[in-house]
Amino acid sequence: MAELQITGLGRSFGGVHAVQDVDLTVADGETRGIIGPNGAGKSTLFNLISGHLRPDRGAIRLDGRPLDRLPAHRRARRGVAIVFQAARIFPGMTVLENVMVGAHLRASAGFTAAVLRLPAHRAAERRIRELALGSLDRVGLSDRAEDPAASLPIGQQRAMQLARALCADPDLLLLDEPASGLRAPERERLASIVEELHEDGQTTLLIEHDVAFVSRLSDRVTVLDLGRVIAEGTPEQVRRDPAVVSAYLGT
Ligand code: ADP
Ligand code: MG
Repeated sequence: MAELQITGLGRSFGGVHAVQDVDLTVADGETRGIIGPNGAGKSTLFNLISGHLRPDRGAIRLDGRPLDRLPAHRRARRGVAIVFQAARIFPGMTVLENVMVGAHLRASAGFTAAVLRLPAHRAAERRIRELALGSLDRVGLSDRAEDPAASLPIGQQRAMQLARALCADPDLLLLDEPASGLRAPERERLASIVEELHEDGQTTLLIEHDVAFVSRLSDRVTVLDLGRVIAEGTPEQVRRDPAVVSAYLGT
């Protein structure tokens, strides 16, 4: 179960209202697209959900339990995984080690007991390695597992970060423009991964500037402009919404 409920969320930077009075409910198992022009507040919204930024006001709940007061690492343990818009890698570590970090972020006594089902540290480490190899396989990077992360081209670095998020077995997956910088075959692989996760009941929020791409993958789409929600609905409803057309699609 992972239902996300956001009410009255706000965050300013100096005089800029990056996120303003945002209400957002995402159902368990839903793929929700988040679109909007540059500077609309999409990344800020994600950072508020993941705990990498603190809100000025508002509430965020996951399955009815408040996330607001938890620091980012505690939210990660609650199952929130984020793939940042800008690459965040450990360049000196191997690709596999970078992905294993995901499981370590999630790991707690409870996670180890319930998911890994292994008490001994060394056995847990072995299991995390297996999970990481599985995630790398899923994103098509198995053959790069032992390479230094910094040696990957940017598209593959982004795929590696997706593998890291998947390795945490997330309840809530936040993908901030995961398709940017990807070539066509990589985009298609990403789309199939998001679709497979959807079929498995994953709750996902997907920021993407390619409206066709996000429409294809999302149950519903939320449109932000100047920090506010200006439209929400099925991809078809949103594309026809006059407010969206004038603010964003520019047609
Ligand atoms: P988007 O991801 O939709 O392009 P952002 O959430 O990155 O938008 O930014 C929303 C607004 O908040 C922009 O005006 C941006 O300049 C501003 N902003 C975002 N992060 C910061 C920050 N750390 N400091 C100051 N201003 C910021
Ligand atoms: Mg952004």
